[in-house]
Amino acid sequence: MNAFSKIGEGADAPFYLAQGHECDVFAAAHANTLPVLLKGPTGCGKTRFVSHMAARLGRPLYTVACHDDLSAADLIGRYLLKGGETVWVDGPLTRAVREGAICYLDEVVEARKDVTVVLHPLTDDRRILPIDRTGEELEAAPGFMLVASYNPGYQNILKTLKPSTRQRFVSLQFDFPRPEHEVPVVVRESGLSEERVKSLVRLANKLRALKGQDLEEGVSTRLVVYAATLIAQGMPVERAVLAAMIEPLTDDGDVKCGLLDLVTAVF
Ligand code: ADP
Repeated sequence: MNAFSKIGEGADAPFYLAQGHECDVFAAAHANTLPVLLKGPTGCGKTRFVSHMAARLGRPLYTVACHDDLSAADLIGRYLLKGGETVWVDGPLTRAVREGAICYLDEVVEARKDVTVVLHPLTDDRRILPIDRTGEELEAAPGFMLVASYNPGYQNILKTLKPSTRQRFVSLQFDFPRPEHEVPVVVRESGLSEERVKSLVRLANKLRALKGQDLEEGVSTRLVVYAATLIAQGMPVERAVLAAMIEPLTDDGDVKCGLLDLVTAVF
Protein backbone atom coordinates (compact mmCIF):
# COMPACT_ATOMS: atom_id res chain seq x y z
CA MET A 1 0.00 0.00 0.00
CA ASN A 2 1.28 3.42 -0.86
CA ALA A 3 2.35 5.79 1.91
CA PHE A 4 0.23 8.87 2.38
CA SER A 5 -0.25 11.44 5.08
CA LYS A 6 -3.35 12.89 6.66
CA ILE A 7 -3.70 16.23 8.39
CA GLY A 8 -6.93 16.49 10.37
CA GLU A 9 -9.40 19.30 10.07
CA GLY A 10 -8.96 22.14 12.52
CA ALA A 11 -5.15 22.04 12.20
CA ASP A 12 -3.51 25.48 12.41
CA ALA A 13 -2.86 26.94 8.96
CA PRO A 14 0.87 26.65 8.23
CA PHE A 15 2.55 29.86 7.11
CA TYR A 16 2.12 30.59 3.41
CA LEU A 17 2.95 33.91 1.75
CA ALA A 18 0.71 34.41 -1.30
CA GLN A 19 2.41 35.32 -4.58
CA GLY A 20 -0.75 36.54 -6.31
CA HIS A 21 -4.40 35.55 -6.34
CA GLU A 22 -3.84 31.82 -5.84
CA CYS A 23 -5.61 31.71 -2.44
CA ASP A 24 -8.75 33.34 -3.85
CA VAL A 25 -8.79 31.05 -6.90
CA PHE A 26 -8.35 27.96 -4.75
CA ALA A 27 -11.09 29.02 -2.29
CA ALA A 28 -13.48 29.78 -5.16
CA ALA A 29 -12.71 26.43 -6.81
CA HIS A 30 -13.42 24.67 -3.51
CA ALA A 31 -16.69 26.53 -3.01
CA ASN A 32 -17.77 25.50 -6.51
CA THR A 33 -16.55 21.87 -6.30
CA LEU A 34 -13.95 22.34 -9.03
CA PRO A 35 -10.66 20.39 -9.07
CA VAL A 36 -7.36 22.31 -9.12
CA LEU A 37 -4.04 21.57 -10.85
CA LEU A 38 -0.84 23.21 -9.59
CA LYS A 39 1.93 23.49 -12.16
CA GLY A 40 5.48 24.42 -11.31
CA PRO A 41 9.01 23.36 -10.37
CA THR A 42 9.82 21.35 -7.27
CA GLY A 43 10.30 23.17 -3.96
CA CYS A 44 8.48 26.38 -4.86
CA GLY A 45 5.66 26.15 -2.29
CA LYS A 46 2.91 24.01 -3.87
CA THR A 47 2.60 21.53 -1.01
CA ARG A 48 2.77 24.29 1.59
CA PHE A 49 0.05 26.17 -0.28
CA VAL A 50 -2.30 23.16 -0.26
CA SER A 51 -1.71 22.53 3.49
CA HIS A 52 -2.36 26.20 4.18
CA MET A 53 -5.58 26.27 2.15
CA ALA A 54 -6.89 22.98 3.59
CA ALA A 55 -6.48 24.40 7.10
CA ARG A 56 -8.06 27.72 6.11
CA LEU A 57 -11.04 25.94 4.58
CA GLY A 58 -11.31 23.61 7.58
CA ARG A 59 -10.96 20.41 5.53
CA PRO A 60 -8.85 17.36 6.37
CA LEU A 61 -6.04 16.83 3.86
CA TYR A 62 -4.77 13.57 2.37
CA THR A 63 -1.46 13.94 0.55
CA VAL A 64 -0.14 11.22 -1.74
CA ALA A 65 3.36 11.48 -3.24
CA CYS A 66 2.87 9.79 -6.61
CA HIS A 67 5.57 7.52 -8.09
CA ASP A 68 5.82 5.30 -11.14
CA ASP A 69 4.54 2.25 -9.30
CA LEU A 70 1.47 3.96 -7.85
CA SER A 71 -1.71 2.34 -9.17
CA ALA A 72 -5.40 3.10 -8.93
CA ALA A 73 -5.72 0.39 -6.25
CA ASP A 74 -3.21 2.27 -4.06
CA LEU A 75 -5.53 5.27 -4.17
CA ILE A 76 -8.86 3.48 -3.99
CA GLY A 77 -8.14 0.60 -1.63
CA ARG A 78 -7.92 -3.18 -1.66
CA TYR A 79 -8.90 -6.34 0.16
CA LEU A 80 -6.34 -7.26 2.80
CA LEU A 81 -5.97 -10.35 4.98
CA LYS A 82 -6.45 -9.42 8.63
CA GLY A 83 -6.50 -12.14 11.31
CA GLY A 84 -7.56 -14.79 8.80
CA GLU A 85 -10.32 -12.62 7.38
CA THR A 86 -10.39 -10.67 4.18
CA VAL A 87 -11.36 -7.07 4.82
CA TRP A 88 -11.71 -4.09 2.52
CA VAL A 89 -9.39 -1.17 3.38
CA ASP A 90 -10.06 2.23 1.84
CA GLY A 91 -7.15 4.00 0.14
CA PRO A 92 -6.50 7.73 0.69
CA LEU A 93 -8.64 8.87 -2.26
CA THR A 94 -11.65 6.84 -1.10
CA ARG A 95 -11.28 8.17 2.43
CA ALA A 96 -11.15 11.73 1.15
CA VAL A 97 -14.23 11.15 -1.01
CA ARG A 98 -16.16 9.70 1.95
CA GLU A 99 -15.04 12.36 4.45
CA GLY A 100 -15.35 15.40 2.20
CA ALA A 101 -11.60 16.00 2.53
CA ILE A 102 -9.06 17.49 0.15
CA CYS A 103 -6.96 14.88 -1.67
CA TYR A 104 -3.63 16.15 -2.99
CA LEU A 105 -1.88 14.01 -5.59
CA ASP A 106 1.65 15.36 -5.70
CA GLU A 107 3.44 14.80 -9.06
CA VAL A 108 0.42 13.04 -10.53
CA VAL A 109 2.11 12.39 -13.91
CA GLU A 110 4.45 9.95 -12.19
CA ALA A 111 1.58 7.59 -11.38
CA ARG A 112 0.48 4.68 -13.57
CA LYS A 113 -1.97 5.27 -16.39
CA ASP A 114 -4.92 3.60 -14.63
CA VAL A 115 -4.92 6.45 -12.07
CA THR A 116 -6.12 8.96 -14.69
CA VAL A 117 -9.09 6.76 -15.50
CA VAL A 118 -10.19 6.94 -11.86
CA LEU A 119 -9.83 10.71 -11.75
CA HIS A 120 -12.08 11.46 -14.71
CA PRO A 121 -15.51 10.69 -13.15
CA LEU A 122 -14.36 12.52 -9.99
CA THR A 123 -13.39 15.67 -11.84
CA ASP A 124 -16.61 16.24 -13.77
CA ASP A 125 -19.96 17.21 -12.33
CA ARG A 126 -20.82 13.59 -11.46
CA ARG A 127 -18.17 13.64 -8.70
CA ILE A 128 -18.30 9.89 -8.29
CA LEU A 129 -15.70 7.28 -7.50
CA PRO A 130 -16.55 3.85 -8.90
CA ILE A 131 -15.00 1.08 -6.80
CA ASP A 132 -15.03 -1.94 -9.09
CA ARG A 133 -13.84 -4.40 -6.45
CA THR A 134 -16.73 -3.73 -4.06
CA GLY A 135 -19.29 -2.71 -6.66
CA GLU A 136 -19.78 0.63 -4.87
CA GLU A 137 -20.22 3.90 -6.67
CA LEU A 138 -19.33 6.59 -4.14
CA GLU A 139 -20.64 10.08 -4.50
CA ALA A 140 -18.15 12.63 -3.15
CA ALA A 141 -19.21 14.13 0.19
CA PRO A 142 -19.60 17.94 0.33
CA GLY A 143 -16.22 19.57 0.79
CA PHE A 144 -14.33 16.94 -1.20
CA MET A 145 -11.77 18.45 -3.55
CA LEU A 146 -9.20 16.91 -5.83
CA VAL A 147 -5.89 18.76 -6.15
CA ALA A 148 -3.01 17.55 -8.29
CA SER A 149 0.42 18.93 -9.08
CA TYR A 150 2.95 18.38 -11.81
CA ASN A 151 6.23 19.82 -12.97
CA PRO A 152 6.04 20.69 -16.67
CA GLY A 153 9.78 21.48 -16.59
CA TYR A 154 10.87 17.84 -16.64
CA GLN A 155 10.02 17.83 -20.36
CA ASN A 156 9.49 14.12 -20.56
CA ILE A 157 7.06 13.62 -23.38
CA LEU A 158 5.94 10.26 -21.96
CA LYS A 159 5.26 11.87 -18.62
CA THR A 160 3.05 14.77 -19.35
CA LEU A 161 -0.62 15.19 -18.67
CA LYS A 162 -2.90 14.48 -21.60
CA PRO A 163 -5.05 17.47 -22.66
CA SER A 164 -8.17 15.42 -21.88
CA THR A 165 -7.01 15.24 -18.25
CA ARG A 166 -5.54 18.73 -18.00
CA GLN A 167 -8.71 20.33 -19.25
CA ARG A 168 -10.63 18.98 -16.29
CA PHE A 169 -8.82 21.21 -13.79
CA VAL A 170 -8.71 24.88 -12.87
CA SER A 171 -4.94 25.45 -13.10
CA LEU A 172 -2.50 27.64 -11.22
CA GLN A 173 1.06 28.30 -12.32
CA PHE A 174 3.67 28.38 -9.55
CA ASP A 175 7.23 29.58 -9.86
CA PHE A 176 10.11 30.53 -7.61
CA PRO A 177 8.98 33.61 -5.68
CA ARG A 178 10.21 37.05 -6.62
CA PRO A 179 12.96 38.28 -4.23
CA GLU A 180 10.51 40.54 -2.34
CA HIS A 181 8.50 37.39 -1.52
CA GLU A 182 11.30 34.87 -1.21
CA VAL A 183 13.30 36.94 1.32
CA PRO A 184 10.51 37.12 3.96
CA VAL A 185 9.67 33.42 3.37
CA VAL A 186 13.28 32.32 3.97
CA VAL A 187 13.67 34.66 6.98
CA ARG A 188 10.52 33.26 8.54
CA GLU A 189 11.42 29.61 7.84
CA SER A 190 15.08 29.77 8.89
CA GLY A 191 15.39 32.56 11.47
CA LEU A 192 18.40 34.00 9.58
CA SER A 193 18.68 37.81 9.41
CA GLU A 194 17.11 39.61 6.45
CA GLU A 195 20.46 41.03 5.35
CA ARG A 196 22.05 37.58 5.06
CA VAL A 197 18.95 36.06 3.44
CA LYS A 198 19.02 38.80 0.79
CA SER A 199 22.50 37.65 -0.30
CA LEU A 200 21.37 34.01 -0.42
CA VAL A 201 18.34 34.90 -2.54
CA ARG A 202 20.57 36.96 -4.86
CA LEU A 203 22.79 33.90 -5.25
CA ALA A 204 19.76 31.65 -5.83
CA ASN A 205 18.62 33.88 -8.69
CA LYS A 206 22.08 33.82 -10.26
CA LEU A 207 22.00 30.01 -10.08
CA ARG A 208 18.48 29.95 -11.56
CA ALA A 209 19.72 31.99 -14.51
CA LEU A 210 22.00 29.04 -15.38
CA LYS A 211 19.08 26.65 -15.87
CA GLY A 212 19.26 25.05 -19.28
CA GLN A 213 23.01 25.81 -19.61
CA ASP A 214 24.91 24.09 -16.83
CA LEU A 215 21.96 23.11 -14.68
CA GLU A 216 18.85 21.07 -15.40
CA GLU A 217 16.75 22.62 -12.61
CA GLY A 218 16.93 25.96 -10.81
CA VAL A 219 17.66 26.01 -7.08
CA SER A 220 14.37 25.69 -5.16
CA THR A 221 13.12 27.87 -2.31
CA ARG A 222 13.29 24.70 -0.21
CA LEU A 223 17.08 24.54 -0.76
CA VAL A 224 17.50 28.26 0.02
CA VAL A 225 15.64 27.61 3.30
CA TYR A 226 18.01 24.67 4.02
CA ALA A 227 21.11 26.83 3.40
CA ALA A 228 19.74 29.65 5.55
CA THR A 229 18.89 27.18 8.34
CA LEU A 230 22.45 25.79 8.36
CA ILE A 231 23.93 29.31 8.40
CA ALA A 232 21.58 30.35 11.21
CA GLN A 233 22.93 27.37 13.19
CA GLY A 234 26.47 28.78 12.80
CA MET A 235 27.77 26.98 9.70
CA PRO A 236 30.15 29.05 7.52
CA VAL A 237 28.32 30.43 4.46
CA GLU A 238 30.41 28.68 1.83
CA ARG A 239 30.02 25.26 3.46
CA ALA A 240 26.28 25.68 3.87
CA VAL A 241 25.80 26.89 0.31
CA LEU A 242 27.87 24.03 -1.11
CA ALA A 243 25.91 21.42 0.86
CA ALA A 244 22.43 22.87 0.43
CA MET A 245 22.44 24.83 -2.84
CA ILE A 246 25.19 23.38 -5.07
CA GLU A 247 25.65 19.66 -4.36
CA PRO A 248 21.90 18.97 -4.78
CA LEU A 249 21.98 20.58 -8.26
CA THR A 250 24.90 18.87 -9.98
CA ASP A 251 27.37 15.99 -9.81
CA ASP A 252 29.78 17.59 -12.30
CA GLY A 253 33.03 18.74 -10.63
CA ASP A 254 33.74 21.54 -13.13
CA VAL A 255 30.22 22.92 -12.85
CA LYS A 256 30.48 22.89 -9.03
CA CYS A 257 33.73 24.90 -9.20
CA GLY A 258 32.05 27.43 -11.49
CA LEU A 259 29.10 27.75 -9.13
CA LEU A 260 31.39 28.25 -6.13
CA ASP A 261 32.97 31.19 -7.96
CA LEU A 262 29.50 32.73 -8.08
CA VAL A 263 29.26 32.35 -4.29
CA THR A 264 32.48 34.29 -3.83
CA ALA A 265 31.18 37.01 -6.16
CA VAL A 266 27.92 37.40 -4.21
CA PHE A 267 29.23 37.24 -0.62
P1 ADP B 1 6.69 21.94 -3.64
O1 ADP B 1 5.47 21.25 -3.11
O2 ADP B 1 6.40 22.97 -4.70
O3 ADP B 1 7.77 20.97 -4.06
P2 ADP B 1 6.98 22.93 -0.92
O4 ADP B 1 5.61 23.43 -0.72
O5 ADP B 1 7.38 21.69 -0.21
O6 ADP B 1 7.34 22.79 -2.48
O7 ADP B 1 7.95 24.15 -0.54
C1 ADP B 1 9.25 23.97 -0.05
C2 ADP B 1 9.51 24.91 1.09
O8 ADP B 1 9.60 26.24 0.58
C3 ADP B 1 8.38 24.96 2.12
O9 ADP B 1 8.58 23.98 3.11
C4 ADP B 1 8.51 26.36 2.67
O10 ADP B 1 9.54 26.39 3.66
C5 ADP B 1 9.05 27.17 1.51
N1 ADP B 1 8.09 28.00 0.76
C6 ADP B 1 8.11 28.17 -0.59
N2 ADP B 1 7.19 29.08 -0.97
C7 ADP B 1 6.58 29.51 0.15
C8 ADP B 1 5.54 30.48 0.42
N3 ADP B 1 4.98 31.17 -0.58
N4 ADP B 1 5.16 30.67 1.70
C9 ADP B 1 5.74 29.96 2.69
N5 ADP B 1 6.72 29.04 2.50
C10 ADP B 1 7.14 28.81 1.26
